[in-house]
Amino acid sequence: MALLVLFAFATAALAEDGVAAARARAALERGTPREAIAIADSALASNGGDPELLAVRGEARLRMGRTAEARADLESAARKLGRKVAGARARLEAIEGNDDDARKLLADTKDNGDRAVVLLLVDGPLEDVQPVRSERYVVFGEQGAQVALDDLERSRRAYEELLPPRPSKLVAHVYLFPSKADFTEFAGMVHEEVESDDAEGFSRDGEAFMAVHSGAKLQGESLGALVHEAFHLYVHAQAHGLPVWLDEGLAEYFGGVRLEKAGDLTFGHTSEPRHVEFRKILRFMKPLSVAAFVRLDEKAFHAEPRLGVNYAQAWAFAHFLLAKRPALLREHWKLMQEGRTPDEARVATFDREDAAVLQKEWEEFLAGL
Ligand SMILES: [Zn+2]
Repeated sequence: MALLVLFAFATAALAEDGVAAARARAALERGTPREAIAIADSALASNGGDPELLAVRGEARLRMGRTAEARADLESAARKLGRKVAGARARLEAIEGNDDDARKLLADTKDNGDRAVVLLLVDGPLEDVQPVRSERYVVFGEQGAQVALDDLERSRRAYEELLPPRPSKLVAHVYLFPSKADFTEFAGMVHEEVESDDAEGFSRDGEAFMAVHSGAKLQGESLGALVHEAFHLYVHAQAHGLPVWLDEGLAEYFGGVRLEKAGDLTFGHTSEPRHVEFRKILRFMKPLSVAAFVRLDEKAFHAEPRLGVNYAQAWAFAHFLLAKRPALLREHWKLMQEGRTPDEARVATFDREDAAVLQKEWEEFLAGL
């Protein structure tokens, strides 16, 4: 009798793990890896070591750029699940720039989605192009790859100065397309909706790659796009889920980049055509109050008809923070890096400010921008 009871208990626990793993996977597929991790954490607390739970938590951590923790989970899961997690492990190796390990694991995976991503990361989208590499970047391009790599390293130093890094092994994969047609075709291949005809770049943070229409020479708008998208990948590897208004605003700030005569890059310029346009938009469409703006989520930020004005406000607000509230920005960054949610970070920073004073200073700054 005792045996029977024990057996029934074990079956119930197993079924619960299965339900939790399915719920965590559903959360991951909805694009909320943080939630997937919370579900897996709580199920693993009562029964550490369930391989399905470890696998899904590993994938969620991978999506968030937390590769060291993802590795621990995926390698534990692999002892029981073997080939079932080979695809995720191949992705992890590719995202860390370990091409040979990624290729070896690919031989074991049957997941075509993973296969496509890994081949893209290790071989690039351009046939017969050998990439140039640094510790943090792999750049594929028929021309100008080395120049782009140097620009990426310079930009990175500027990101790090503003938003101090924590250790990360994530390697950003960068694809340069000299022709607009090739760039657009590639965007279609990876199911990326390039929002408008004049889009110059996009990035995919969970897979650590970005594509830029570099033109014949990397300068002006294409240099701005390179620096903008690389900023997104930098931030993602450091603090997943930075609020979209801050992520885009700072990316636009850095995208105001200028190539100086000595070959140096300087950032935060406000006179590029794109930013002149932003200023015009902010004159014709009223920006949100600061209190409302810092509450915008991804969906609200991207909703028409306010998409254009939201980007413009994000750009202007990033300039405001850097000029007037750098300590607030750094505190917010620190909290996000520690793994707080955007809501928690906002409550501990912006919500503590005197809203009327902040609003008044912002309006004055905007009038003078
Ligand atoms: Zn962006």
